[in-house]
Amino acid sequence: MPLISPVVTPSTRLSDTPVPPPEISDEVRHQLALPDTLPKVNCLARARIPTTQGPEIFLHLYENNIDNKEHLAIVFGEDVRSKTLFKQRPGETQQDRMTRGAYIGKLFPGRTSADRDEKANTELKFEANGDLIREAATTYQEPVLVRIHSECYTGETAWSARCDCGEQFDEAGRIMGAKGHGCMVYLRQEGRGIGLGEKLKAYNLQDLGADTVQANLMLRHPADGRNFSLATAILLDLGLTEIQLLTNNPDKILAVEGKNREVKVLERVPMVPLAWKTGSGIKSKEIEGYLSTKIERMGHLLEKPIKIN
Ligand SMILES: [Zn+2]
Repeated sequence: MPLISPVVTPSTRLSDTPVPPPEISDEVRHQLALPDTLPKVNCLARARIPTTQGPEIFLHLYENNIDNKEHLAIVFGEDVRSKTLFKQRPGETQQDRMTRGAYIGKLFPGRTSADRDEKANTELKFEANGDLIREAATTYQEPVLVRIHSECYTGETAWSARCDCGEQFDEAGRIMGAKGHGCMVYLRQEGRGIGLGEKLKAYNLQDLGADTVQANLMLRHPADGRNFSLATAILLDLGLTEIQLLTNNPDKILAVEGKNREVKVLERVPMVPLAWKTGSGIKSKEIEGYLSTKIERMGHLLEKPIKIN
């Protein structure tokens, strides 16, 4: 369901320069269909992942109190620290902390202290209750680039050209890797929240002539059944309260900020499909229809003359 699309004038720019987010009054914000309280999240483990693309990532795995899915945060930068992961637990050893990924610096064979990085001569400090003290010397404090990505098995793994999820995922990772810091919140809500089975049925309805929105409605699902409150809670846990959001979707800005604006989007960084910028990227009849639906029916802030034959 579009939250704010009618009050936003689509931008005519075809550029990925950061732009200020749309201005939304508190009154409008409070009328939004957003949850009043955020879910509780807990980071269970973090691990360094060298990638085929070059930059290292730190993969964070979360549990939460509203579903039993394993949502993830793909973090660029060792010094972005989860509050729940780093919080000291009664009776745990330094080895326990290193095992779940609550360490500073880099692991190496024989390392004994999680809280102290001997090589950089830095040490994590904690409050009496075990909370990490977020000091600039050990914990990143600047606004970072964030993308909220909803799982898309077909687009990310099965090479689907029906949508641009795989391309957007790769491109967001490329930009964050180049910047050195960033966070991709990876939510397990396949097919705008309807699940893979229903999404496959929606594809058949699209082949029969429906657009993305109509197909969902014909299956008695909302046009967009996604929930971004988990993303807000995960960003708060990572201490990322002021962010630049990589998106073309105005609804996502508000959804991520939350009803009480727990997270603030300082800037919106547009994502321009590669096919429009460089001539490379996804080309298919289906992707053009998909992008036009996003723009015309879902209020995405992206404009491009699209020809559909
Ligand atoms: Zn997709």
